[in-house]
Amino acid sequence: MTLASTPDLTTLRAVDGLHFPGEPGYDHARLAWNLIADQHPTVIAVPESIDGAVRMVRAAADAGLRIAPQASGHGAPALDQEALRGAMLLRLHRLTGVEIDAEARTARVLGGTLWREVVEAAAPHGLTALHGSAGDVAVSGYILGGGISFYGREHGLAAHRMRAVEIITADGALVRASATEHSDLFWALQGGGGNFGAVVAIEIDLLPIPDVRTGFLLWDISAASDVVPVWRDWTRGLDRAATTSLRLLRFPPVPEMPPFLSGRSLVIIDGAILADDASAADLLQPLRALAPEMDTFASIPAPAMLEVHMDPPVPSAAISDHLMLGDLSDTAIDALLESAGVDATAAPMIIEIRHLGGAFGDPKDAAVRGIDGEYALLAVQPVAVPEFAEQAAGLVAGAIEAMRPWADCAPYLNFIDAPLDAATAFDPETLERLHRVRAQYDPDRVWLSAHALPEVEPV
Ligand SMILES: Cc1cc2nc3c(=O)[nH]c(=O)nc-3n(C[C@H](O)[C@H](O)[C@H](O)COP(=O)(O)OP(=O)(O)OC[C@H]3O[C@@H](n4cnc5c(N)ncnc54)[C@H](O)[C@@H]3O)c2cc1C
Repeated sequence: MTLASTPDLTTLRAVDGLHFPGEPGYDHARLAWNLIADQHPTVIAVPESIDGAVRMVRAAADAGLRIAPQASGHGAPALDQEALRGAMLLRLHRLTGVEIDAEARTARVLGGTLWREVVEAAAPHGLTALHGSAGDVAVSGYILGGGISFYGREHGLAAHRMRAVEIITADGALVRASATEHSDLFWALQGGGGNFGAVVAIEIDLLPIPDVRTGFLLWDISAASDVVPVWRDWTRGLDRAATTSLRLLRFPPVPEMPPFLSGRSLVIIDGAILADDASAADLLQPLRALAPEMDTFASIPAPAMLEVHMDPPVPSAAISDHLMLGDLSDTAIDALLESAGVDATAAPMIIEIRHLGGAFGDPKDAAVRGIDGEYALLAVQPVAVPEFAEQAAGLVAGAIEAMRPWADCAPYLNFIDAPLDAATAFDPETLERLHRVRAQYDPDRVWLSAHALPEVEPV
């Protein structure tokens, strides 16, 4: 195909399931999960079947349009909004479904499916998946970027537990990529993002986990200077069975919130421990010795894991940013407490540190080989009204700048909500190989992705 400077939309108008600006349905279809993204594509395609998606991709290609696949829109702020103005937004949220093979412990998941659907379909078989903290994140974008789960220190990145991908390539072909079919493309899809085509199905491994020891420990933020260093010490040399996160949270007084959260500033540690009750209790003992105000750790059915982190249950607007830290030194903790601890005057609502290491760092021959950092830092500020966006961005930037001196590892792109060049996350050898795969499968740069690879291969 050839990308057109002025696309001819005549043939596109004859295709079912497309929304053009000004038509009913366009404004609803352009809404991403993260409402901060103001998306204005030339056309929006909403396929309900794989065949429909293939037809829409071919029609866009014939019209000379670039194409941006999007599943849930959790990562939408990372898409180049200017480039989207001349492109087709391929919204896959109606292309959903899960087939479980309980014996093989695998699932085939259609390209727009959310994690909640997978986890609920797997649970009756005593199985679960390497999902993230929120049930309404889609499997596709999460896995294409790597996939950091609360089971990850034991089981690694979700992208490394993917068996196969069915993908529409730029020429409109439907291709199956796996370790033995289109293996270079499969290598690139394990962490290389949405730069190679529209994923219409993914086959993943499932885990034999019917119940999880999970929950949270909660303190007032005045305890942060005690809790943060103890948690850091606890994470050093920790059993791979435990994957946790520590958050400094500041909630406004909101009547709909439970009283233990509303209007309060808190430290919360949550996560999962893949061990029996006694071993989990042994592991948690040093944290429990800090006398948390609330302790909800218990054994619960695996699907309930999707509620533990208390991510927003509905689409919402937020600005966030991320750094990857190799360590959390005493000086880094001092900076963290100064910028977001009890006395901080201008901190974002959420500062989160996810503990990684363990199997997250185990290398695999994949675009994301493994994660080098031990701690992923996230700063998140919800934006209740558009007028607050600038101030929210300032709060996030302030928290990130305070911790930047300790950001000594490549970032995890799925945690970055800005159209940052994907090159920052890959070493030169990996980047060169990603470019080679793209040159083979997308010579004309049809795909428009969150965190796009640079247009030109660096010399
Ligand atoms: C509340 C919240 C909680 C989160 N929790 C976690 C977590 O625990 N662990 C973690 O690792 N990440 C987490 N994330 C980050 C999340 O993984 C990224 O935002 C990811 O990009 C979301 O994928 P998506 O498909 O849902 O989003 P989308 O915005 O739909 O997709 C993001 C990008 O992925 C690509 N893509 C998506 N679907 C397809 C497809 N079918 N074909 C081709 N390309 C596609 C595209 O390039 C797209 O621009 C969280 C994000 C939020 C907002």
